[in-house]
Amino acid sequence: MEEIKVFCPATIANVSCGFDVLGLALDAVGDVMIVRKTAKKGIKITNIIGQDLPLATEKNVAGVAGLALLEKSDYSGGFEIEIDKRIKPGSGIGSSAASSSGAVWAMNELLGQPFSNLELVQFAMQGEKLASQVAHADNVAPAIYGGFTLVRSYNPLDIVSIPTPDELFATVIHPQIEIKTSDSRKILKTKLTLETGIRQWGNLGGLIAGLFQEDYELIGRSLEDHVVEPIRSILIPGFDDITSGAKQAGALGSGISGSGPSIFALSQGEVTAEKVAEAMHQTYKSIGIDFDIHVSKVNTQGVKPL
Ligand code: ADP
Repeated sequence: MEEIKVFCPATIANVSCGFDVLGLALDAVGDVMIVRKTAKKGIKITNIIGQDLPLATEKNVAGVAGLALLEKSDYSGGFEIEIDKRIKPGSGIGSSAASSSGAVWAMNELLGQPFSNLELVQFAMQGEKLASQVAHADNVAPAIYGGFTLVRSYNPLDIVSIPTPDELFATVIHPQIEIKTSDSRKILKTKLTLETGIRQWGNLGGLIAGLFQEDYELIGRSLEDHVVEPIRSILIPGFDDITSGAKQAGALGSGISGSGPSIFALSQGEVTAEKVAEAMHQTYKSIGIDFDIHVSKVNTQGVKPL
């Protein structure tokens, strides 16, 4: 195989109580990427459509993640990459992670799969480091493994795949405002009280158990974040109205997607997820904020060939 076209999913990191450790992949929104083998060594990004992003290999997360893979590979050639960028950068649904993960997943396929998913995550994390100064894995892990993933440990890196209940759907609304990931990190507290820690890990354990047991009620009860959401939600206009409206429309629960400004809700079944989308739509319409909205099944495959 000389060339491959792949779907690179958007992802929701944190998922309320799992700050920096939990993430899930989406099906209805993602980038499309074409990766092709070349005789010339190195990586060349030949075309980007949809968004204004750097073509220079070292300035594009796809290039940086790809170089990390090449460095560990005995392949003597290189790759060309074309990106159809459908996820807006800075939206909080893993725009950079989609490119990093898609690039390394596609290269691994073209090379006959010499690398494990864990190694691919490590390469893709180099792209995340370029985008946000932190080599975090909570978006690239679900993009590569699919479904829900838990980053149990960063040192050594330990990724755990969590099963996805069949009827779980996500609704994601992206208000068209800009929040810099670095700003939304700066405002976080660096210390927790024991009381807050106990509430948080109670919910994280509950969410994981709910996913394993396909217990939608337990998933809903566990979608509570006492650490990040109380602080970050201040940056997102209409946050309380959106989340309470989603709940009234039948959502199991909701929270900030990644570092925001996107807000996600999880629901049992597509019909409810669509009702949640309608409620969110009405809320932002009445406040007068422009937005994109997506309803998606959880993508259990991750990056996939098209
Ligand atoms: P998101 O949370 O949606 O991934 P980030 O703010 O983390 O958005 O990352 C976007 C940053 O990464 C921007 O500064 C963007 O210019 C940079 N970037 C470089 N290459 C890419 C790429 N291929 N896709 C998306 N963002 C990229």
